[in-house]
Amino acid sequence: MDEKQANVKRRLILVRGLGLAGGCLMCIGARNATAAKTSKAALLYQERPHDGKRCADCRHFVAAANDAATGTCDVVDGAINREGWCIAFAPRI
Ligand code: SF4
Repeated sequence: MDEKQANVKRRLILVRGLGLAGGCLMCIGARNATAAKTSKAALLYQERPHDGKRCADCRHFVAAANDAATGTCDVVDGAINREGWCIAFAPRI
């Protein structure tokens, strides 16, 4: 491998590395953008099920370790009743 080929190879490695770093930064930014939660009112949260759908069956619900009736939500701010519901309901797969 001559000097010219070695330079091309180094540039290729550098460009690929920068692309990978940029992709990682975009992932971190997207995660932070979704970290903000929405108010209960904005998503029409209610303390009772809707058409048989309830927070306990939603993929966004995180049950509290010490309280079987409540938990938190990845989307909605505040304490969430496992029997509640909002328009962001997404069934667990
Ligand atoms: S997204 Fe809505 S339905 Fe799902 S857990 Fe959160 S508050 Fe309940």
